[in-house]
Amino acid sequence: MYKCSICGGLFDEEEAEDKFISEVSNRCYGNFLKPVCGECAIDVFQSEIEGYYEEECECCGKRFDPITENVEFVTRISGIALDDVSPVLCCTCAMDTLDSQEDV
Ligand SMILES: [Zn+2]
Ligand SMILES: [Zn+2]
Repeated sequence: MYKCSICGGLFDEEEAEDKFISEVSNRCYGNFLKPVCGECAIDVFQSEIEGYYEEECECCGKRFDPITENVEFVTRISGIALDDVSPVLCCTCAMDTLDSQEDV
């Protein structure tokens, strides 16, 4: 059993992962930086809690928190979320992707 770093409750990692991926299909439970139970893992994304999750940008290889990067992204580009471009691109690469699409 692990202790959730958000709510302090004990949880089974396999159950937490099953619960998480049934709600948040485009993220990987293994990318959490700290132990979090299924409910809190989902809450990290629904309530946009920074500092618990890290993704690796598939373009530049930078490790980034998609929640933090999304805040930056939406302040620069209104109307769409970082997730709408790609869940595995950092803010900079997502903006580059959009720029190159506009050129076509
Ligand atoms: Zn929890
Ligand atoms: Zn990148």
